[in-house]
Amino acid sequence: PLDKEKLGHYSWSLLHTIAAKYPEKPSSLVQKEMKDFFAIFSNIYPCELCAHDFREELRRDPVDATSQEQLSQWLCRIHNKVNLKLGKDLFDCSKVNERWRDGWSD
Ligand code: FAD
Repeated sequence: PLDKEKLGHYSWSLLHTIAAKYPEKPSSLVQKEMKDFFAIFSNIYPCELCAHDFREELRRDPVDATSQEQLSQWLCRIHNKVNLKLGKDLFDCSKVNERWRDGWSD
């Protein structure tokens, strides 16, 4: 079975990649699907405490699915809250597309 760290690493990779490929101008249906996806994800994420805190965070800072930029920045913010909680370094959100969409330039 996957431990919490590996599960987390793979999950963030999937989520940031979904945000990286999200449309610039999503229809209202596509925006709704993305919000529903995160609501369901936060119910089924297979780490109970993580999922519980994630649901609380979603209530405090709801999904912004209005564009690729907004969704990626929102997810970066949410991930940084988890980084903070775990005592990890915060990620510079101005670099999120470089990391997850375009690839590092160095
Ligand atoms: P990860 O945090 O997994 O990050 C993977 C890569 O993403 C990094 O190497 C970096 O390149 C990049 N990155 C880092 N921060 C950002 C950011 N803000 N924006 C964009 N890219 C970034 N673990 C717990 O112990 N307790 C919890 O409550 C908990 N809650 C979680 C909730 C969710 C929704 C998820 C998906 C995971 C959660 N985890 C939790 C797991 C935890 O966040 C890490 O995934 C795990 O500790 C492994 O960390 P890592 O150092 O490999 O990097």
